[in-house]
Amino acid sequence: MAEYVPDFDISKPTIARVYDAILGGKDNFAADREGAAAYMKHVPNSKEVAIDNRLGLEKGVAYMAKHGIDQFLDIGAGLPTMRNTHQVAQEINPEAVVCYVDNDPIVLSHGRALLADNESTTIVTADLRDPESILNHPDVRKVIDFERPIGLMVVGLFMHFHDEENPGEWVGALLDACPSGSYLLMTDFADTGEPQQKAIEKAGLEALGNGWVRKPEKILEHFQGLPLVEPGLEWVPRWFPGEPDREVPAAEDLEPYHRIMMAGLGYKA
Ligand code: SAM
Repeated sequence: MAEYVPDFDISKPTIARVYDAILGGKDNFAADREGAAAYMKHVPNSKEVAIDNRLGLEKGVAYMAKHGIDQFLDIGAGLPTMRNTHQVAQEINPEAVVCYVDNDPIVLSHGRALLADNESTTIVTADLRDPESILNHPDVRKVIDFERPIGLMVVGLFMHFHDEENPGEWVGALLDACPSGSYLLMTDFADTGEPQQKAIEKAGLEALGNGWVRKPEKILEHFQGLPLVEPGLEWVPRWFPGEPDREVPAAEDLEPYHRIMMAGLGYKA
């Protein structure tokens, strides 16, 4: 039998595969597992941080689906893992469509296998840094109707860009193409001056050369002035969109590793 030769470079870690390794997935190679080990070294609870991020995704998608969003544009989708966007959305609305976008070709090759029997879901290789590559992609246009409200998702992605790159401009360009009634779901690493936050930044820089933390006010800026669904930008274990009165643990009672990932959901009126 011919030896399996992947058609992508496995000698260097990629964000998607390192994240997969941290979450305990199987779609990664030695260089990625080394990257994951760097995360574990600096933040032993890195897996819990990644799970917080996924829970943020799940809560945000469920809120949007329950509030009438039936098409999702998930940028930086990552490799298939626990409770993917289409699973969460289609549980609430079986008619919901999802377009996954990622610039790592492994996401397309592995995602296709998962989605072979799901006609209302597609995966596209395109880059957030070039919003037109997303907006003009024929497969995006096939699934997403830009005349109707969209759930735009930039989850677990912004930390990989430095503000010097002006990543808000890319999101702004995507949002401009979304009609009123759309949402922007975002999670990001926050910097409120705690050591575990600096540790995760150090891990990211060592493992991938990126993965910065941001002051909450900087994260908010990237929502492009959209008002946020209550309770606004919050640590994921305290974040239940649309349930501002829900009893949640006090921020100071959270484990330090739960005070790394923040989530927010903006609404385009
Ligand atoms: N969104 C998923 C989640 O939150 O669980 C995956 C997050 S993973 C940390 C970040 C993903 O963004 C990776 O799959 C990576 O390949 C992708 N990514 C990184 N830079 C990107 C870019 N410029 N355009 C599109 N995707 C990108």
